[in-house]
Amino acid sequence: ASAASAAGGASSGDVKVSEVKDVSRLERISVHSHIRGLGLDDALEPRKTSEGMVGQREARKAAGVVTRMISEGRIAGRAVLLAGQPGTGKTAIAMGMAQALGEETPFTMMAASEIFSLEMSKTEALTQAFRRAIGVRIVEETELIEGEVVEIEVDEPADGVGDKTGRLTLRTTEVESEYDLGQKMIEALSKEKVTPGDVITIDKASGRITKLGRSFARGQDYDAMGAQTRFVQCPEGELVKRKEVVHVVTLHEIDVINSRQQGFLALFAGDTGEIKSEIREQIDARVAEWREEGKASIVPGVLFIDEVHMLDIECFSWLNRALESDLAPVLVIATNRGITNIRGTEYESPHGIPIDLLDRLLIIMTRPYSAEELREILHIRATEEDVTVSDDALDLLTRIAQGTSLRYAMHMITVSHFVCRKRQGAEVDVSDVRRVYKLFIDVKRSTHFLIEFQKQYMF
Ligand code: ATP
Repeated sequence: ASAASAAGGASSGDVKVSEVKDVSRLERISVHSHIRGLGLDDALEPRKTSEGMVGQREARKAAGVVTRMISEGRIAGRAVLLAGQPGTGKTAIAMGMAQALGEETPFTMMAASEIFSLEMSKTEALTQAFRRAIGVRIVEETELIEGEVVEIEVDEPADGVGDKTGRLTLRTTEVESEYDLGQKMIEALSKEKVTPGDVITIDKASGRITKLGRSFARGQDYDAMGAQTRFVQCPEGELVKRKEVVHVVTLHEIDVINSRQQGFLALFAGDTGEIKSEIREQIDARVAEWREEGKASIVPGVLFIDEVHMLDIECFSWLNRALESDLAPVLVIATNRGITNIRGTEYESPHGIPIDLLDRLLIIMTRPYSAEELREILHIRATEEDVTVSDDALDLLTRIAQGTSLRYAMHMITVSHFVCRKRQGAEVDVSDVRRVYKLFIDVKRSTHFLIEFQKQYMF
């Protein structure tokens, strides 16, 4: 069986496995929907405001360096910690990294608390997360079957006539020799399967036509012999080009497909359950074989674990060990905690992370925003949500973000918009923001009430 079919066919073009997402994940992403990258230039210098990103320049640059190294396949099995106060853009930066890495690099995002579920053990949940973040790039050479209809692109005409690229659909035809091919060309031309000006390349060894396209300036007319000549002049190296199909599937997808009766449909069921370790061992062995045969390569992706202080000591030691493994993604973790208890122990440590893991981390700090930066972020969010906000209202929202939190101020945009629509206003103004500020209290005021009215609450 070919590599892709052993992977269960989940990679076939019409099924997009990467689109499987659960609701909580979607919700978490939507507040970052304005983030389209890290906003860096080619030299990895942060632009002031770009791709939805504002400020936080050092952290963005550092994240850019890590991202570049991942893209170039130069790091795997490393861990990066994003540390900083709440709402300083740690998750946003992780999202920016995911965007900058592009679709082919697996990026898995989770909150540490998701690991504690009744359905599977902590280590199984971590194993699945790890394997979701490791891609297997499978390259398949498709055999062109005689008579099969293929669409092929041509990049450069062999004889340098014109420089257009083009597409053509044709039926492949078995040929035995160059002479034979010439004959076939003429035949094809006469049957109008191929029009003058088309260039074909063939695999000389097998004699199969593997490539054909219109490479000449459109509208130019070539006679049948012209087309044939052009073929004959194709340089040797270009003759042997097969159509390559590349799929990237994650190790986790291969695991699921091979361990569930319904095959790749299991991926859509959401709950994948536990996977036996023998299955994983078999799959690892098979992937190793594909790699040796040159059929596959590993694409180490990123596993992002938010609120990492929620992990306990067992999870941390699992992570430490797993990072040593041959097939490890880059681990990006984030926390807003200072010195705190390591869950499952009586000890405290920076960020609630054990010292031995801390020791191997690259740490990226995020810092609180200036008023100007907060205003810019709020402005971007309003635009993203299609809400027009007056300058004064934006100033007020900025002051609220400074006094409470950026997140609270962001929530206010949505609700103020609703209030504004109710009064049939065209843009959110100061009065809308004031009303919402009264209707929904922020954490600070909530805490204040709690302290003031403690006695009236139940214990
Ligand atoms: P926490 O520690 O509470 O998890 P965090 O540091 O992960 O917070 P985010 O969730 O990334 O903070 O930021 C809060 C909101 O502000 C998000 O909607 C995020 O997209 C947005 N945001 C934060 N920083 C930036 C930035 N530099 N540019 C644009 N948007 C940002």
